[in-house]
Order: sequence, then structure tokens, then C-alpha cells
Amino acid sequence: MPNTHRPFDEEVDLLVIGAGAGGMTAALTGSMEGLSVLLCEKSSMVGGTTSTSGGTVWVPATSLSEKAGVPDRLEDAERFLQHVVGNRGGDERRRAFLESGRSAIDALVSHSDVQLVAAAAHPDYLDGPGSAYGGRALAAVEFDARLLGEDFARIRPPRDVFMGLGGMMVGRYELPALLKPFASMGNLRTTLRIVSRYFADRLKYSRGTRLLMGNALVGRLFYSLRKRNTPIWFESALTDFICEENRVIGAVVTTPDGERRIKARRGVVLATGGVAWNRKLRDDVFPAEIAPPSQAPASNTGDGIMAAVEKLGAKFDNGHDSPALWMPCSFLKKADGTESIWPHILLDRAKPGLLAVGQDGRRFVNEADSYHDFCMGMIRSGLSEAWLIADSTFLQKYGLGLVLPGARGLARLRRAGYLFEGRDVQDLARRIGVDADGLGETIARYNAYAKTGKDLEFDRGHSVVNRFNGDETVKPNPCLAPVEKGPFYAVKVKPVDLAGSAGLACDVNSIVLNEKDEPIEGLYACGNDATSIFRGTYPGPGTTLGPAMVFGWRIARHAAGKPMVL
Ligand SMILES: Cc1cc2nc3c(=O)[nH]c(=O)nc-3n(C[C@H](O)[C@H](O)[C@H](O)COP(=O)(O)OP(=O)(O)OC[C@H]3O[C@@H](n4cnc5c(N)ncnc54)[C@H](O)[C@@H]3O)c2cc1C
Repeated sequence: MPNTHRPFDEEVDLLVIGAGAGGMTAALTGSMEGLSVLLCEKSSMVGGTTSTSGGTVWVPATSLSEKAGVPDRLEDAERFLQHVVGNRGGDERRRAFLESGRSAIDALVSHSDVQLVAAAAHPDYLDGPGSAYGGRALAAVEFDARLLGEDFARIRPPRDVFMGLGGMMVGRYELPALLKPFASMGNLRTTLRIVSRYFADRLKYSRGTRLLMGNALVGRLFYSLRKRNTPIWFESALTDFICEENRVIGAVVTTPDGERRIKARRGVVLATGGVAWNRKLRDDVFPAEIAPPSQAPASNTGDGIMAAVEKLGAKFDNGHDSPALWMPCSFLKKADGTESIWPHILLDRAKPGLLAVGQDGRRFVNEADSYHDFCMGMIRSGLSEAWLIADSTFLQKYGLGLVLPGARGLARLRRAGYLFEGRDVQDLARRIGVDADGLGETIARYNAYAKTGKDLEFDRGHSVVNRFNGDETVKPNPCLAPVEKGPFYAVKVKPVDLAGSAGLACDVNSIVLNEKDEPIEGLYACGNDATSIFRGTYPGPGTTLGPAMVFGWRIARHAAGKPMVL
């Protein structure tokens, strides 16, 4: 263990490294518990991947689910997780998560500006005993970033593709109104409210100040930290630990003013966003089908994990179903040479009339399953890329990736090599280099399934989440409709990591463990720096942010010597 006796530049109770959901929750809770806290962030902005995420936080049996009229029971959540995760391990930490979830959310909602609401309808991603249709997925309430004044510029913006008019956030349920503003008075009112606020914002700010999803969550955490005057050092990266005997007592941080040695009396928290862009860890544990990019910001380079492993002998736990969680993403090359990434999360894959094929023209998965399970299907089939296929009826009605419903701007997307069009199936197959006979047979079979409503190969439309993301107006199966009206279209997707699941081995209070499974005193990890309690499975919406925040809360409570349940 590194050990030096040089003087300290700063002394706090809790030193938190990384300002995403995990780190900010640990810092905020530490401050709420009366600890002196310093939060160090490597980039010039808070938020990390959290900022660009959907911001859904999966925590079972909270008081918010009761408030939303969809009460949930811990026993049900426990049964559900037992069913999903099975004997893959991590039981004790999963119990700790369930034990503290309600208290952590209550504490944040009651004593800070972190305001969340439970969705009455946002189903778990898998069916099984104890699964829930609503109540577990919590969403951050819209945040008015004008409250932050100049600090607004310190919030990492969402992905460009998730903002309209160059900087306006739009929620999933607002999109239909904005796409058809004149369809009803309600649509017109919604559109005018959102767009007029946006144009007013742009007189003063570089983007809209109405923050939603992950940006709202980060805005609320950041605002709460600012209100408590919790110091945040930007452009300040962890580079080393300071140890005394076998305990971590601080860290070395590189700042714009040079190196700073910080003493942390109660502990150092690693929350640097997991494996993400770290080349070595990716090479070591990611499947061959996965190539960069990562969806994490460039500042997430695996620093927390690498430092803990290399300098302190911490254990990197990769005993998972999958070392990371994935989303199928399509890529648009822009005129300036950069690339936009569109993650196909929920708007298109489950809608009736879409199918996905490999180069042989054959389907390989239930396309309506969660984005992670879709990609696991790719990986199992040895596919590093696949094609989403649909006809012109589908494109008009639902859109496809960057093509929004209404199908405008197709020529531009075709020219950019994003969207492929064929006058018939054979023509499309030739243009994308897919086996034409294979694709023809696959579509014929798919169309037969659409008639009977039964997908005999992959059971598309069988699960609650399949049907939830399908189109309930389509019968007999909301996820199946014939692919028959030319021209036909294709978009290429590749699996891209959205979060790590392999991470540092930790105990129930998120203290990091060494190779002998002994605690490294004074060192905590949360968020994607900590090994996932779901062991590479993806139980429901928000299952990375939920544990990130609950363990961030437990860490600060443990450091403050407080119980884990309120
Ligand atoms: C499109 C998309 C949608 C998603 N939607 C959801 C969702 O709805 N619900 C959900 O649960 N998950 C979702 N995820 C995943 C989720 O965003 C991440 O799992 C989560 O944000 C990780 O949080 P974190 O605190 O571990 O890391 P991050 O939020 O990535 O924060 C890490 C921070 O650490 C900083 N850092 C890195 N190295 C250092 C260093 N050496 N010193 C100091 N600071 C450092 C980084 O700059 C960064 O700011 C989504 C992901 C994507 C890509």
C-alpha cells in the first residue's frame, strides 16, 4: 500500500471521487449527515453518464410507489430478483440494497431537492414471480436549471440526438404532441408551452433550461449540493491513494493548480463510472463482438477501478453473466466528421412490423426484449452488427432510430449512409449485403406470425414489457404486423455498453474488498465502479442508477456511523 508522510493540503471526513449519480448521492448524504465532504470531478462538468441517461432509478417498495397508488412489497421484489439473478451470487449486497432502498429515497426526497416520482406504468424488463408493472421505476421530476444561474454550464448536456432545435429536451410522452402539434388543442398547448420556454431560454443560455430524465436527476443532485455549500473541485482527478498501515486515509488529486494531497478521515469513495473507455479492462473482459465507442463520456477511463486494483490489490469482480450492459445503437456520420449515436431503447424495436437480422438474413432474438437482452442475443450469435428492418408503413407510423414518426428527412439520412432503402426486399438485401433468400424467407415467416399473432421462433410480444412497448391498437399481437409495403428500410446497429456490471468487489456497505475478500478499510466504491448486484442481468428500468444511489447513501451513512435503515 502506498504510504507517505508528506503534509496534507486539505482535510475532510469524506472524499468522493467522481460526480455522477453514485458520487453525488454519497457526497450529498455525507453532507446531510454532518460530515465535511469534498467532491472531486475530473472533467469540467458534473453528471457523467448519468447526465445523458434516461434517469430512471429502480428501487422497490418505496413510499413513492404508495403515493403513486401502486404499492410494492419487498418480499415480491426479493422473489423477483431471486428468479432473475438466480444463483449467480451477490445475495447479501442485494439484500442490503433492498433493505435500505426505501430509507435512502425517503431521505433524499424529504431533505434535499432530489425529487422523484414513481411511474404507475413502467414494467420490469422480465416476467416472473414478483415482477411489477409499476411503482419500482422512479423518475426525476423536471428541473428548472435557471435556479443554478451560471452553474448551469457545469451540467453535462444530454446527447445531441436527444435534444430538438439544437438544445431542447423533450420527454417521451411529449414527443407525440411535438410531432403533431395541430392534431389537437392539447398537442398545440403542449408544443407552445415547451417551445416558447425554449426560445426564451436561448436568449440567455446555451441550451434549454427545462431539464428532464438524467439531466434532471443530475441538476437536482447538483443544486442540492450547492445549497449545502458542499465543495466541488472540477478538473480534479484521482491519481493515487495515501495509506497508513492497512487503511486508506486519503488520496492524491491532480488539479488545475497542481497536485493536492487530501486527508479523508472517514474514507475515500470511488465513483468514477466503471470500466467505460478503459482499454485494458475492455480487452480483458468484454466479448469479441464489442468494439468502442462506449456511451460514457470520454472522462470515464476506468480510473477508480484501475487505481484500486493496481495500487491497493483490490479485487476486480468479473464473475457475471455479462461484464457490461448493452444497448443496440445506430451511428450517423455528421458533416463535421463526428458521429451521433442513437441508442434504440424503446421507441422502435418492440413496435409491430420491425425485425432484426444478421448477415444471413435470419432473426436471432426477440427484438422487443430489453435493449440488453437484444444485445445478448447478438453476442450469443457471434454478431458484432445487425440490421433493423421495416417497411414504409412502419417508418411513417413509428420512425426508425433517427427517423422520427412521419418519416421526414429520409434523403439526408440515406445520403449519410445511416438509412438504407430498397424498392423490394431483394433490392434492400443487396444494398446492405445481407443474404437475399434468407431475408425473403425470414420476412415471409414473420408475416405469417403477424397473421396468427404467434411468433413461433422468438415469441415476440409474449412478455409484459414487450406489449408495453408495442402498439396496443394492433391486434392480435401488439408487437407483430406484416412487413409488406415498399420501399423497405434498414438501419445498422451495434452493441454498445451503457454501464459496466463487472467492477470492484465490495461488501454490504460498499467497502472495497481485496483478492482475499477482506475489506480495504477506508475505501468505498459505488455506481459502476462497484460490481453489480444483478450480476450482469437486467431486471428492470433503472437498475444501474438505483443501486448507484442506494449504495451511495449507505456509504455515507456507514462513514457517519449511522444505521442503514431510517
Ligand atoms: C443512453 C443511456 C441511458 C441510460 N438510462 C439509464 C436509466 O434510465 N436508468 C439507469 O439506471 N441507468 C441508465 N443508464 C446507465 C447509467 O447512466 C449509468 O450506469 C450511471 O450513470 C453510472 O453512474 P456512475 O455514478 O457510476 O458514473 P457516471 O455518471 O458516469 O459518473 C462518473 C464521473 O466520474 C468522473 N471521473 C472519472 N474518472 C475520474 C477521476 N480519476 N477523478 C475524478 N473524477 C473522475 C467522470 O468524469 C464522471 O463525471 C443509461 C445509460 C445510457 C448511455
